[in-house]
Amino acid sequence: MVEKSIRAARILEYGKPLSLVSVPKPRICRDEEVIVRVGAVGLCHSDLHLLNGEWKSIIPLDLPKTPGHEIAGWVEEIGKSVPTNLLTPGDLVAIFGGWGCGICFYCKQGNEQMCESAKWPGLSSYDGGFAEYILVPSFRFLVKVQDTSILPEKIAPLTDAGLTPYRAIKKVRHHLGPGKSIGIIGVGGLGSYGVQYAKLFGAGSKVVALDRSDKKLELAQRCGADHVINLSSGESIKEKIMNITSNKGMDVILDTVGAESTITDAIRMIGKGGTIVLVGLMGNMGKIPVAPFVINEVKMFGSLWGNFNELKEVIDLQVQGKIISNIRNFKLDYINEAIEMLKNGTIVGRGVIVP
Ligand SMILES: [Zn+2]
Ligand SMILES: [Zn+2]
Repeated sequence: MVEKSIRAARILEYGKPLSLVSVPKPRICRDEEVIVRVGAVGLCHSDLHLLNGEWKSIIPLDLPKTPGHEIAGWVEEIGKSVPTNLLTPGDLVAIFGGWGCGICFYCKQGNEQMCESAKWPGLSSYDGGFAEYILVPSFRFLVKVQDTSILPEKIAPLTDAGLTPYRAIKKVRHHLGPGKSIGIIGVGGLGSYGVQYAKLFGAGSKVVALDRSDKKLELAQRCGADHVINLSSGESIKEKIMNITSNKGMDVILDTVGAESTITDAIRMIGKGGTIVLVGLMGNMGKIPVAPFVINEVKMFGSLWGNFNELKEVIDLQVQGKIISNIRNFKLDYINEAIEMLKNGTIVGRGVIVP
């Protein structure tokens, strides 16, 4: 039998551009596996860390490796034990990342992304989606999209950029309501969704978007932000926040960047008893000024990805047209150009690779 080959953009060496190469088309070896024809893959900041080799000690990869972890596409082939009432070839699916063991405490709780042995496509021993086809180890990790008129490029970013802020804002929704405020730091891939969830779950809260780029702040306004603040405007930021919040400071801040500077900004802007949620992974370390943190009884916690049911929920919001995916498509051939643009911060919304 002649082995079929497919195109993939792979890491051959850390710190180098991805290489577009031919690799064998994945084959089903275990009965619950599924092969998905990739329709679209989101380009994430985490990919930059990965490509540069910054994460090689925490996520050791056997190079060469195909990255890409925000994937949607069509079922190409299913293993013998995949229930055909759930999935059949041709179905439009989103690939849920965080492939857990299925039996540990976290998996049984429904939070497979928290599993000690969770594996992500393109961030583990499994190849990711910057390719024409991908092997998914189990049908359990696929969400079927019932509305097949939706383009995969609107679904792919929901598996991470659209999912991570969703889980984070659900955790703080009880702090929101009329007279309250929520700030979204960073209007990149995650933040443009974050602003929309802040409106949906904010129950009348003021939604403030903060970024260094005016173009991204314009996007935040289109996503429903009530106020926008350019973070490069310096000392006046705290004053602006105090004006917006009647001198209380913010009730909730979602930091989608996670740099030392944004953590400092968040603590300057948060009000008494306020809550900061950290989801961005840009920096390594943040500094906490002890006195304001203690005096204002600030709460701060992290939130990781989202779970399977939460992915179903965000897809439902997209299908209903209650959220919009702001995307910019790039063909697989131009993936390195897209990566450069992501590095320079010139992609507004989410960059999506379409093989
Ligand atoms: Zn990501
Ligand atoms: Zn598990």
